[in-house]
Amino acid sequence: MNQQKWSNWSGYQQSQPEHILKPNSIEELKSIVQNQSKIRVVGAGHSFTPLVCTDATLLSLDNFSGVDSINVDVAQANIWSGTRLFNLDQYLEPIQQALMQQGDIDQQSLAGAVSTGTHGTGVDLHCISGYVEAFELLTASGEILSCSRQENTTLFEAGRVSLGSLGILTKITMQNKPRYKLKEHVRLCSVKEFFENIDLWKTQHRHIECFVFSHADQLILKTLDITDEDIQPRKSSWPSEDALLSMCCGLTRSFPAMNPKLQKLLSVFVKPTTFVDWSSQIFPTPRETKFNEMEYQIPVESGIACLQEVLAKLKHAKAQTFFPVEFRFVKGDDIWLSPFYQQDSISISVHQYYKQAPRLLFDEIEPILQHYQGRPHWGKMHNMTAMQLKALYPKWDDFMQLRAQLDPTQKFLNPYLEKLFLDS
Ligand SMILES: Cc1cc2nc3c(=O)[nH]c(=O)nc-3n(C[C@H](O)[C@H](O)[C@H](O)COP(=O)(O)OP(=O)(O)OC[C@H]3O[C@@H](n4cnc5c(N)ncnc54)[C@H](O)[C@@H]3O)c2cc1C
Repeated sequence: MNQQKWSNWSGYQQSQPEHILKPNSIEELKSIVQNQSKIRVVGAGHSFTPLVCTDATLLSLDNFSGVDSINVDVAQANIWSGTRLFNLDQYLEPIQQALMQQGDIDQQSLAGAVSTGTHGTGVDLHCISGYVEAFELLTASGEILSCSRQENTTLFEAGRVSLGSLGILTKITMQNKPRYKLKEHVRLCSVKEFFENIDLWKTQHRHIECFVFSHADQLILKTLDITDEDIQPRKSSWPSEDALLSMCCGLTRSFPAMNPKLQKLLSVFVKPTTFVDWSSQIFPTPRETKFNEMEYQIPVESGIACLQEVLAKLKHAKAQTFFPVEFRFVKGDDIWLSPFYQQDSISISVHQYYKQAPRLLFDEIEPILQHYQGRPHWGKMHNMTAMQLKALYPKWDDFMQLRAQLDPTQKFLNPYLEKLFLDS
């Protein structure tokens, strides 16, 4: 046995797989699926939940990277599933395409981002999985199924957010957009002004999000809009945002009573900025200060009330965090286990510095998010049980039946998913 250590981005999830395998071809991949009894597929390991932890076989599709074919007329690209998002532009730029939407970072693999319903922000924009037009899935029986709105339709409805539990995604066809530039505008705004105007602002910008500090009167507001303006690339500042964040997190950890003062100093450091660049350059921002994160998708009608309650609780929480709450919009979709299934949502995320125990803080906040009928982000920490999830997902039982048909021996489940899926 040749056990190797594996850990996720934040270091919180760790496991010792018996094998870590990186096949080079579909034939090799099929042979692994036939010969191994327990497999978890890993993308970039950027999920905070133990989705990929295993003591059996951990399979990486890092060698399945690049674009396989394109349809220029409808701006679609058929992409190998292990492609990291930061590598995608080198393939999409020559064909003048870009992803419709992205989240805060571009480190994820395409399959990893799709499989958990990774999202950015914008009232008219779905999560990344909502722009999947087709995919190929290698099932436990060793068969490759093509799935789309025309072929294997049930599997298409379920498979776009499936946590690696239905099989291995090998290729994904994305509905893209002709290459476009975005203008990013970041400024401070009073919390009062934000609550008074957000219903209007959310319709005026393609993307809008904010970062709210529980102890400060001002929040950081970020908007992105399509533009034809000349490129004004993002400049690095001194001290860097990241250096400041790291310092404030360290101080809050050692001296929690300083947190209100540190958060209020915000206005000294955050200056209004405007940048213009291609979408693939504007969407991601560096995330060098490590953290763990919990995020729930709240029905859009009650998102503001939920945020207000979360902020009030954070202010007096026993475990303090310097990190702001992130607040974003995501349009509903038709994917069975998508947290946005038939639900336009407000996404609320709470972060804790990686050197502080995350659950001390998350346990105080999670009941509020659950009270507002929130559905957890599959890749971010939560304590929901199978029974609670079943009540939130109308297609829960259909998904579980489909999973059992495709993988009766539970080849693609680990102990975490067995508990999450089989206890309902
Ligand atoms: C710093 C940071 C910032 C983040 N920002 C955002 C954000 O802005 N928005 C957001 O929504 N999320 C965000 N996330 C969460 C992240 O996007 C998701 O957890 C995503 O799933 C991670 O992708 P990955 O490639 O690392 O996948 P992994 O974490 O490695 O895997 C995720 C799931 O995908 C499955 N999977 C991977 N490859 C395949 C395959 N080929 N076939 C079948 N299943 C597969 C795995 O089995 C697993 O269940 C962030 C995470 C971090 C650490």
